[in-house]
Amino acid sequence: LGPTVCVGEILVEIVATTVGNGFLEAQPLVGPFASGAPAIFISQCGRLGGQAAMVGAVGDDDFGRVNTDRLKRDGVDISAISIDPDYPTGSAFVRYRKDGSRDFVYNIATSAAARFGWSRGVADLIDRTGHLHVMGSALSVPSARAVIDKAVDIVKARGGTLSVDPNLRKELKLDEETDRRFAKLVAAADLLLPSGEELERAAGVEGEAKAIRRLFEMGVTEIVLKRGAGGATYFASGGDRIDAPAFVVQEVDPTGAGDCFGGAYLTCRRLGMSPKQALTYASAAGARNVTVLGPMEGAGTRPELDAFVASTERRP
Ligand code: ADP
Repeated sequence: LGPTVCVGEILVEIVATTVGNGFLEAQPLVGPFASGAPAIFISQCGRLGGQAAMVGAVGDDDFGRVNTDRLKRDGVDISAISIDPDYPTGSAFVRYRKDGSRDFVYNIATSAAARFGWSRGVADLIDRTGHLHVMGSALSVPSARAVIDKAVDIVKARGGTLSVDPNLRKELKLDEETDRRFAKLVAAADLLLPSGEELERAAGVEGEAKAIRRLFEMGVTEIVLKRGAGGATYFASGGDRIDAPAFVVQEVDPTGAGDCFGGAYLTCRRLGMSPKQALTYASAAGARNVTVLGPMEGAGTRPELDAFVASTERRP
Protein backbone atom coordinates (compact mmCIF):
# COMPACT_ATOMS: atom_id res chain seq x y z
CA LEU A 1 0.00 0.00 0.00
CA GLY A 2 2.84 2.39 0.79
CA PRO A 3 2.66 5.11 3.43
CA THR A 4 0.13 7.92 3.65
CA VAL A 5 2.05 11.13 3.09
CA CYS A 6 1.02 14.64 4.07
CA VAL A 7 2.81 17.72 2.74
CA GLY A 8 2.47 21.07 4.44
CA GLU A 9 3.05 23.44 7.30
CA ILE A 10 4.51 22.27 10.60
CA LEU A 11 4.03 24.83 13.36
CA VAL A 12 3.93 25.27 17.08
CA GLU A 13 0.76 26.68 18.49
CA ILE A 14 0.26 28.95 21.48
CA VAL A 15 -3.29 28.87 22.80
CA ALA A 16 -5.24 31.46 24.79
CA THR A 17 -6.85 29.74 27.76
CA THR A 18 -9.61 32.26 28.40
CA VAL A 19 -12.14 33.67 25.99
CA GLY A 20 -11.50 37.26 25.00
CA ASN A 21 -11.55 39.53 22.02
CA GLY A 22 -7.93 40.59 22.19
CA PHE A 23 -4.81 38.57 23.00
CA LEU A 24 -4.14 40.83 25.98
CA GLU A 25 -7.58 39.96 27.33
CA ALA A 26 -7.36 36.25 26.53
CA GLN A 27 -4.63 35.45 29.05
CA PRO A 28 -2.81 33.36 30.01
CA LEU A 29 -1.45 31.73 26.88
CA VAL A 30 -0.15 28.15 26.98
CA GLY A 31 2.11 26.18 24.70
CA PRO A 32 4.07 25.54 22.58
CA PHE A 33 2.06 22.62 21.25
CA ALA A 34 2.99 20.64 18.14
CA SER A 35 0.66 21.86 15.39
CA GLY A 36 -0.08 22.76 11.78
CA ALA A 37 -3.14 21.11 10.26
CA PRO A 38 -1.08 18.71 8.07
CA ALA A 39 1.00 17.68 11.10
CA ILE A 40 -2.10 17.08 13.24
CA PHE A 41 -3.57 14.94 10.47
CA ILE A 42 -0.46 12.80 10.08
CA SER A 43 0.00 12.48 13.84
CA GLN A 44 -3.46 10.93 14.07
CA CYS A 45 -2.62 8.55 11.19
CA GLY A 46 0.53 7.44 12.97
CA ARG A 47 -1.18 7.04 16.35
CA LEU A 48 -3.72 4.71 14.78
CA GLY A 49 -0.96 2.49 13.48
CA GLY A 50 -1.14 3.43 9.82
CA GLN A 51 2.06 3.84 7.85
CA ALA A 52 2.48 7.60 7.77
CA ALA A 53 5.09 10.14 6.69
CA MET A 54 5.35 13.92 6.68
CA VAL A 55 6.94 16.33 4.22
CA GLY A 56 7.69 19.84 5.49
CA ALA A 57 10.28 21.81 7.41
CA VAL A 58 11.11 23.07 10.86
CA GLY A 59 13.87 25.33 12.14
CA ASP A 60 16.92 24.05 14.00
CA ASP A 61 15.31 25.03 17.30
CA ASP A 62 13.29 23.77 20.25
CA PHE A 63 9.97 24.56 18.54
CA GLY A 64 11.05 22.31 15.69
CA ARG A 65 11.95 19.53 18.07
CA VAL A 66 8.57 19.83 19.81
CA ASN A 67 7.15 18.70 16.45
CA THR A 68 9.69 16.19 15.21
CA ASP A 69 9.88 14.44 18.61
CA ARG A 70 6.12 14.28 18.79
CA LEU A 71 5.63 12.92 15.25
CA LYS A 72 8.38 10.37 15.75
CA ARG A 73 6.74 9.19 18.97
CA ASP A 74 3.47 8.84 17.07
CA GLY A 75 5.15 6.49 14.60
CA VAL A 76 5.37 9.00 11.74
CA ASP A 77 8.31 8.73 9.32
CA ILE A 78 10.03 12.13 9.65
CA SER A 79 12.87 11.49 7.19
CA ALA A 80 11.42 14.00 4.68
CA ILE A 81 11.05 16.79 7.24
CA SER A 82 13.96 19.12 6.58
CA ILE A 83 15.68 21.15 9.27
CA ASP A 84 16.26 24.69 8.04
CA PRO A 85 19.50 26.10 9.45
CA ASP A 86 18.53 29.72 8.78
CA TYR A 87 14.84 30.13 9.52
CA PRO A 88 12.87 29.39 12.71
CA THR A 89 9.98 26.97 13.09
CA GLY A 90 6.66 28.55 12.14
CA SER A 91 4.10 29.43 14.79
CA ALA A 92 0.43 30.15 15.26
CA PHE A 93 -1.45 31.86 18.06
CA VAL A 94 -5.10 31.04 18.57
CA ARG A 95 -7.74 32.79 20.64
CA TYR A 96 -11.42 32.14 21.12
CA ARG A 97 -13.73 35.15 20.90
CA LYS A 98 -16.78 35.92 23.01
CA ASP A 99 -19.08 35.29 20.02
CA GLY A 100 -17.83 31.70 19.82
CA SER A 101 -15.57 32.29 16.80
CA ARG A 102 -11.86 31.68 16.76
CA ASP A 103 -9.00 33.30 14.97
CA PHE A 104 -5.34 32.68 14.38
CA VAL A 105 -2.27 34.85 14.15
CA TYR A 106 0.10 32.96 11.87
CA ASN A 107 3.82 33.35 11.69
CA ILE A 108 4.59 31.24 8.63
CA ALA A 109 5.83 33.46 5.79
CA THR A 110 9.27 34.04 7.31
CA SER A 111 9.60 30.59 8.85
CA ALA A 112 11.08 27.24 7.84
CA ALA A 113 7.53 26.09 6.99
CA ALA A 114 7.55 28.44 3.99
CA ARG A 115 10.97 27.48 2.70
CA PHE A 116 11.13 23.78 1.96
CA GLY A 117 11.40 22.32 -1.50
CA TRP A 118 11.71 19.15 -3.51
CA SER A 119 14.71 17.09 -2.44
CA ARG A 120 16.13 13.60 -2.86
CA GLY A 121 14.50 12.59 0.43
CA VAL A 122 11.10 13.88 -0.69
CA ALA A 123 11.45 12.17 -4.09
CA ASP A 124 12.34 8.83 -2.44
CA LEU A 125 9.33 9.06 -0.16
CA ILE A 126 6.87 10.11 -2.88
CA ASP A 127 8.09 7.18 -5.00
CA ARG A 128 6.89 4.80 -2.26
CA THR A 129 3.67 6.66 -1.47
CA GLY A 130 0.31 5.03 -2.00
CA HIS A 131 -1.78 7.92 -0.75
CA LEU A 132 -1.25 11.65 -0.53
CA HIS A 133 -3.25 13.97 1.74
CA VAL A 134 -3.35 17.72 1.17
CA MET A 135 -4.76 20.43 3.39
CA GLY A 136 -5.97 23.56 1.60
CA SER A 137 -4.08 25.69 4.12
CA ALA A 138 -0.82 24.42 2.62
CA LEU A 139 -1.75 26.02 -0.72
CA SER A 140 -1.21 29.44 0.83
CA VAL A 141 2.45 28.56 1.35
CA PRO A 142 4.34 28.99 -1.97
CA SER A 143 7.05 26.41 -1.25
CA ALA A 144 4.48 23.79 -0.24
CA ARG A 145 2.47 24.49 -3.42
CA ALA A 146 5.33 23.48 -5.67
CA VAL A 147 6.02 20.27 -3.75
CA ILE A 148 2.31 19.41 -3.65
CA ASP A 149 1.90 19.93 -7.41
CA LYS A 150 4.72 17.58 -8.22
CA ALA A 151 3.76 14.99 -5.59
CA VAL A 152 0.11 14.91 -6.76
CA ASP A 153 1.17 14.34 -10.37
CA ILE A 154 3.56 11.52 -9.45
CA VAL A 155 1.24 9.71 -7.02
CA LYS A 156 -1.83 9.96 -9.26
CA ALA A 157 0.11 8.91 -12.39
CA ARG A 158 1.19 5.77 -10.52
CA GLY A 159 -2.39 4.91 -9.58
CA GLY A 160 -2.16 6.18 -6.01
CA THR A 161 -4.96 8.10 -4.34
CA LEU A 162 -5.45 11.65 -3.10
CA SER A 163 -7.51 13.06 -0.25
CA VAL A 164 -8.15 16.76 0.26
CA ASP A 165 -9.36 18.67 3.30
CA PRO A 166 -10.19 22.20 2.09
CA ASN A 167 -9.22 23.65 5.50
CA LEU A 168 -9.57 27.18 4.20
CA ARG A 169 -8.36 29.66 6.80
CA LYS A 170 -9.42 33.26 6.42
CA GLU A 171 -6.12 34.42 7.92
CA LEU A 172 -4.09 32.73 5.18
CA LYS A 173 -3.81 34.13 1.68
CA LEU A 174 -6.85 33.10 -0.37
CA ASP A 175 -6.02 34.85 -3.63
CA GLU A 176 -6.90 33.85 -7.19
CA GLU A 177 -3.81 31.70 -7.46
CA THR A 178 -4.78 29.76 -4.34
CA ASP A 179 -8.33 29.38 -5.67
CA ARG A 180 -7.06 28.05 -8.99
CA ARG A 181 -4.81 25.54 -7.29
CA PHE A 182 -7.55 24.52 -4.90
CA ALA A 183 -9.93 23.81 -7.81
CA LYS A 184 -7.26 21.71 -9.53
CA LEU A 185 -6.65 19.74 -6.36
CA VAL A 186 -10.36 19.05 -5.81
CA ALA A 187 -10.62 17.81 -9.40
CA ALA A 188 -7.80 15.31 -8.73
CA ALA A 189 -9.14 14.16 -5.33
CA ASP A 190 -10.60 10.73 -4.61
CA LEU A 191 -11.72 11.57 -1.08
CA LEU A 192 -12.87 15.01 0.03
CA LEU A 193 -13.20 15.98 3.72
CA PRO A 194 -14.88 19.40 3.82
CA SER A 195 -16.50 21.07 6.79
CA GLY A 196 -19.46 23.46 6.59
CA GLU A 197 -19.42 25.84 3.67
CA GLU A 198 -16.19 24.37 2.28
CA LEU A 199 -18.35 21.77 0.52
CA GLU A 200 -20.05 24.36 -1.68
CA ARG A 201 -16.83 26.25 -2.17
CA ALA A 202 -15.08 23.09 -3.39
CA ALA A 203 -17.93 22.28 -5.78
CA GLY A 204 -18.41 25.85 -6.95
CA VAL A 205 -22.20 25.51 -6.61
CA GLU A 206 -24.71 26.30 -3.86
CA GLY A 207 -26.79 23.74 -1.98
CA GLU A 208 -25.54 20.56 -0.30
CA ALA A 209 -27.15 18.05 -2.68
CA LYS A 210 -26.06 19.96 -5.79
CA ALA A 211 -22.54 20.32 -4.46
CA ILE A 212 -22.26 16.60 -3.73
CA ARG A 213 -23.54 15.75 -7.23
CA ARG A 214 -21.13 18.17 -8.86
CA LEU A 215 -18.15 16.78 -6.95
CA PHE A 216 -18.99 13.22 -8.01
CA GLU A 217 -19.21 14.41 -11.62
CA MET A 218 -15.73 15.88 -11.16
CA GLY A 219 -14.37 12.45 -10.21
CA VAL A 220 -14.42 12.48 -6.39
CA THR A 221 -15.61 9.05 -5.16
CA GLU A 222 -16.10 9.63 -1.41
CA ILE A 223 -17.09 12.75 0.50
CA VAL A 224 -17.21 13.00 4.27
CA LEU A 225 -18.87 16.22 5.39
CA LYS A 226 -17.86 17.32 8.90
CA ARG A 227 -20.46 19.14 10.97
CA GLY A 228 -18.70 19.75 14.29
CA ALA A 229 -20.87 18.74 17.26
CA GLY A 230 -23.55 17.93 14.65
CA GLY A 231 -21.60 14.84 13.55
CA ALA A 232 -20.60 13.91 10.01
CA THR A 233 -22.11 12.46 6.84
CA TYR A 234 -20.54 10.08 4.36
CA PHE A 235 -21.55 10.18 0.69
CA ALA A 236 -20.31 7.70 -1.92
CA SER A 237 -20.46 8.23 -5.66
CA GLY A 238 -22.42 4.97 -5.92
CA GLY A 239 -25.25 6.58 -3.93
CA ASP A 240 -24.61 5.33 -0.38
CA ARG A 241 -25.06 7.77 2.49
CA ILE A 242 -24.24 7.22 6.17
CA ASP A 243 -24.95 9.72 8.94
CA ALA A 244 -22.50 9.47 11.83
CA PRO A 245 -23.77 11.04 15.05
CA ALA A 246 -21.26 12.95 17.16
CA PHE A 247 -20.15 11.72 20.57
CA VAL A 248 -21.27 13.77 23.55
CA VAL A 249 -18.23 15.50 25.04
CA GLN A 250 -17.28 18.63 26.91
CA GLU A 251 -15.45 20.77 24.36
CA VAL A 252 -12.30 22.37 25.76
CA ASP A 253 -10.44 23.30 22.55
CA PRO A 254 -12.02 22.77 19.10
CA THR A 255 -8.77 23.18 17.14
CA GLY A 256 -7.62 20.01 15.38
CA ALA A 257 -10.93 18.12 15.46
CA GLY A 258 -11.29 18.01 11.69
CA ASP A 259 -7.65 17.06 11.19
CA CYS A 260 -7.86 14.17 13.68
CA PHE A 261 -11.20 13.12 12.16
CA GLY A 262 -9.65 13.07 8.67
CA GLY A 263 -6.48 11.26 9.75
CA ALA A 264 -8.50 8.59 11.54
CA TYR A 265 -11.00 8.15 8.69
CA LEU A 266 -8.33 7.79 6.05
CA THR A 267 -6.16 5.46 8.11
CA CYS A 268 -9.07 3.17 8.95
CA ARG A 269 -10.13 3.02 5.29
CA ARG A 270 -6.56 2.25 4.21
CA LEU A 271 -6.40 -0.48 6.88
CA GLY A 272 -9.41 -2.06 5.15
CA MET A 273 -12.29 -0.99 7.39
CA SER A 274 -15.78 -0.25 6.04
CA PRO A 275 -16.88 3.39 5.72
CA LYS A 276 -19.18 2.90 8.74
CA GLN A 277 -16.43 1.57 10.99
CA ALA A 278 -14.00 4.25 9.77
CA LEU A 279 -16.62 6.92 10.55
CA THR A 280 -16.94 5.66 14.11
CA TYR A 281 -13.19 5.90 14.69
CA ALA A 282 -13.06 9.28 12.93
CA SER A 283 -15.93 10.70 15.01
CA ALA A 284 -14.27 9.38 18.16
CA ALA A 285 -10.91 10.88 17.15
CA GLY A 286 -12.46 14.31 16.47
CA ALA A 287 -14.53 14.30 19.65
CA ARG A 288 -11.73 13.03 21.88
CA ASN A 289 -9.37 15.68 20.55
CA VAL A 290 -11.67 18.57 21.51
CA THR A 291 -11.70 17.44 25.15
CA VAL A 292 -8.02 18.30 25.59
CA LEU A 293 -6.24 21.66 25.34
CA GLY A 294 -3.80 21.82 22.42
CA PRO A 295 -4.38 21.07 18.74
CA MET A 296 -3.23 17.43 18.69
CA GLU A 297 -2.94 16.56 22.36
CA GLY A 298 -6.13 14.50 22.27
CA ALA A 299 -5.29 12.45 19.16
CA GLY A 300 -5.90 8.84 20.15
CA THR A 301 -4.31 5.44 19.60
CA ARG A 302 -6.57 2.55 18.62
CA PRO A 303 -6.95 1.25 22.22
CA GLU A 304 -7.66 4.82 23.40
CA LEU A 305 -10.32 5.32 20.74
CA ASP A 306 -11.84 1.88 21.47
CA ALA A 307 -12.09 2.84 25.15
CA PHE A 308 -13.56 6.22 24.20
CA VAL A 309 -16.23 4.63 21.95
CA ALA A 310 -17.14 2.10 24.65
CA SER A 311 -17.55 4.75 27.34
CA THR A 312 -19.05 7.73 25.48
CA GLU A 313 -22.65 8.36 24.47
CA ARG A 314 -23.60 9.48 21.00
CA ARG A 315 -26.07 12.20 20.19
CA PRO A 316 -29.45 10.79 19.13
P1 ADP B 1 -13.12 21.08 11.26
O1 ADP B 1 -12.20 21.19 12.46
O2 ADP B 1 -12.44 20.61 10.02
O3 ADP B 1 -14.00 22.28 11.06
P2 ADP B 1 -15.29 19.77 12.69
O4 ADP B 1 -15.26 20.87 13.68
O5 ADP B 1 -16.56 19.55 11.93
O6 ADP B 1 -14.11 19.87 11.63
O7 ADP B 1 -14.93 18.43 13.49
C1 ADP B 1 -14.72 17.21 12.82
C2 ADP B 1 -15.48 16.10 13.50
O8 ADP B 1 -15.04 15.96 14.86
C3 ADP B 1 -16.99 16.32 13.56
O9 ADP B 1 -17.61 15.86 12.38
C4 ADP B 1 -17.35 15.48 14.79
O10 ADP B 1 -17.46 14.11 14.46
C5 ADP B 1 -16.14 15.67 15.70
N1 ADP B 1 -16.36 16.83 16.60
C6 ADP B 1 -15.91 18.09 16.46
N2 ADP B 1 -16.33 18.89 17.47
C7 ADP B 1 -17.07 18.10 18.28
C8 ADP B 1 -17.79 18.32 19.51
N3 ADP B 1 -17.83 19.51 20.10
N4 ADP B 1 -18.45 17.27 20.05
C9 ADP B 1 -18.43 16.05 19.48
N5 ADP B 1 -17.77 15.78 18.33
C10 ADP B 1 -17.08 16.79 17.73
